[in-house]
Amino acid sequence: MPFFAPAQFIVDRDDARCIRCKVCVNQCSFEVHSYDAETDEVRSRDERCVGCHRCEALCPTRALAVRFNPMEIRPNANWRPEHIRDLQRQADTGGVLLTGAGNDKPFRIYWDHLLLNASQVTNPSIDPLREPMELRTFLGRKPDRLDFDDLDGELTTELGPQLVVETPIVFSGMSYGAISYNAHLALNQAAQEFGTLYNTGEGGWPAEFRRFGNRTIVQCASGRFGIDLDYLESAAAVEIKIGQGAKPGIGGHLPAEKVTAPVARTRMIPAGTDALSPAPQHDIYSIEDLAMLIGALKEATGYAKPVCVKISAVHNAAAIASGAVRAGADIIAIDGLRGGTGAAPKVIRDNVGIPIELALAAVHDRLVKEGIRNHASILAAGGIRSSADVVKAIALGADAVYIGTAALVAMGCTLCQMCYTGKCNWGIAVTDPWLTKRLNPDIATRHLVNLLRAWSLEIKEMLGGMGINAIESLRGNRLQLRGVGLEDWELKVLGVRGAGA
Ligand code: SF4
Ligand code: SF4
Repeated sequence: MPFFAPAQFIVDRDDARCIRCKVCVNQCSFEVHSYDAETDEVRSRDERCVGCHRCEALCPTRALAVRFNPMEIRPNANWRPEHIRDLQRQADTGGVLLTGAGNDKPFRIYWDHLLLNASQVTNPSIDPLREPMELRTFLGRKPDRLDFDDLDGELTTELGPQLVVETPIVFSGMSYGAISYNAHLALNQAAQEFGTLYNTGEGGWPAEFRRFGNRTIVQCASGRFGIDLDYLESAAAVEIKIGQGAKPGIGGHLPAEKVTAPVARTRMIPAGTDALSPAPQHDIYSIEDLAMLIGALKEATGYAKPVCVKISAVHNAAAIASGAVRAGADIIAIDGLRGGTGAAPKVIRDNVGIPIELALAAVHDRLVKEGIRNHASILAAGGIRSSADVVKAIALGADAVYIGTAALVAMGCTLCQMCYTGKCNWGIAVTDPWLTKRLNPDIATRHLVNLLRAWSLEIKEMLGGMGINAIESLRGNRLQLRGVGLEDWELKVLGVRGAGA
């Protein structure tokens, strides 16, 4: 912290309740708490607190309360406390400010301005407890038409490879190194148990996780970490990562201190060195180049696995998505402005990109207009917070959604944004073996499965209310949405009518 910056958080300790157990002292990786044996006192250094609330949660006597420091400086609509604090930090360090998690700025969250429909009388609602509701989703290229044998009625159209998920919710790519081994194990186990997919992210794929390959998407990113033929062949699908919502246009950086021996082995790089992913894929400078890589990955995997292209939601997302589909992508993943990250320059995370809702609507519309919507599935990512967001995303045109931050929160993340430090007190965004142990993978698996189950039940309730019994029938069905509090141009981009219309 800069020498003159006030603390962001205040740690209140009720001394009468404190039993000097030192749980807080041992639990805080940011070394906020210390015990003075001479005076038998536990003290806190507020300026070190990042607001992760680990100590507060584990204090056996509830003696601790961590509060946001309102910093009672003279109000100034221009120079807000965040600007002053960031500026002070840069005056102190002379470096790019890093951050973790997703964009927390008050850009319009369109999910909260879209309302869902419900049926009555003429198209009665469906009771999901009594009637079957289909959430199963097939991800991959679909044919423009289906042909059947005249004699036996058998399907004769050859279908491309499909990924089958039991709910339209898939875990998004988070690299091994950015998040811990136990977090990866939990995501793998939950994907297996619930019938969805886990994504390796760009950090390679530990060999022992290959037993989960039937439900794994492996990533091929610019750093090409850990990629070999077995990596590609053992997975259910391959994802070419062109962009990421939290940091469009720039590469990745896993600091050397997080590159432990197992991370290094998985990434196929030396331990203790920075793992740098270049900003562009160095063999992709055009759609033709992208087509060559898609073709090469399909050839390498015997044309048996769908290839996904992940792009960040920026101004030309619709054109790029169209190009990627024409280049042979079977799935397009679009990652919006609020997508999470293990580490990103704060200035990029907070100022580059567009909200997923607008990008998703634009991509779906463009593919429909060009008559190629069937040629690829769409995965929407970046800021999916609830089952309602999932339903609205599908009504806007997605086939399914990716969740990253929501999955981390289900495992215990408190969104403190300190992922880049390697000191995550919850054992999630760490590689340190001692901190990794804090996340019990079996308990985390249970929480993830519960989340998927709860959201899936809620999705069925919403579908039933709309009189729809299959998620497939909701895709791109914007008549089920109405906008509130939106400008005309926003309704136009979203392709949604205003409420009452
Ligand atoms: S965890 Fe609670 S009871 Fe234990 S030393 Fe810290 S403040 Fe005191
Ligand atoms: S993963 Fe850990 S460090 Fe990152 S935001 Fe969540 S609690 Fe904080």
